[in-house]
Amino acid sequence: MIFQEHPWTLQEILWQQFLHWPKELPIIEAEDVKARKGFIYANLYAAKLWHARRNGLLCDWVIDDYNGKPAVELSFQILLPDGFRYRGSVDAVLRNRITGAIGVLEHKTTKYKVIDPAQYKNSAQAVGYSIVLDHLYPDVSSYEVLYLVYSSTEMEIVPLDFTKSLAQRAEWLQDILFDIDNIRAYDESGVYPRRGESCFNFFRQCQYFQTCTMSVERLAKEYHPDMADTKVYDVTVTMEELIETQLKRNT
Ligand code: SF4
Repeated sequence: MIFQEHPWTLQEILWQQFLHWPKELPIIEAEDVKARKGFIYANLYAAKLWHARRNGLLCDWVIDDYNGKPAVELSFQILLPDGFRYRGSVDAVLRNRITGAIGVLEHKTTKYKVIDPAQYKNSAQAVGYSIVLDHLYPDVSSYEVLYLVYSSTEMEIVPLDFTKSLAQRAEWLQDILFDIDNIRAYDESGVYPRRGESCFNFFRQCQYFQTCTMSVERLAKEYHPDMADTKVYDVTVTMEELIETQLKRNT
């Protein structure tokens, strides 16, 4: 709503935030003051964003429509060889009112006081999103990936803007195929790598610490049809279709 031409008032946004606050999260109970998480901090962020928008943040951009609906939380799946899938969700697809360019908007929150473009510029996730956009908007020649990064420590919003090249997109597709080859190789050998450097991340132990050395048979649940992903995706596209789109764009 914040990015539409006639935004809601701040009171209306805060009221909607209250109405849609997840039931499992407390509203009144103690806030996580150190991590600056919770209902109050979410309201503060909404207010910051609302004021920044009024002061010109992304003023040329509006939320685009997809299938007659605002393109927010657009879920997608890419069907890959051998039943593999790459799934994701785009926070919002924006259209520049002046140039007609299309952009992917990503919201990020960090505890870092200093936000550096290097933290996000080469994110594989963002390249993947731009490839899906290529497929959805084949006639648009310019795509940008716009990040709104919120430092919860400084309570500041920093906008970052990256353009993804055709070469980066081709490399991303190739990379996904390498990932599948790697998974197959691990599966065939029955040996999976342990990434020791990731055992302690985000100030806590990995949930598999102490158990990941057990045999895979003990760790993995037997597959049951109930576990199948029944989610309906806004966009489903095959790897072949994406490669075809990229080849067309290249020529
Ligand atoms: S504890 Fe977690 S991160 Fe560390 S090796 Fe085991 S599974 Fe990987």
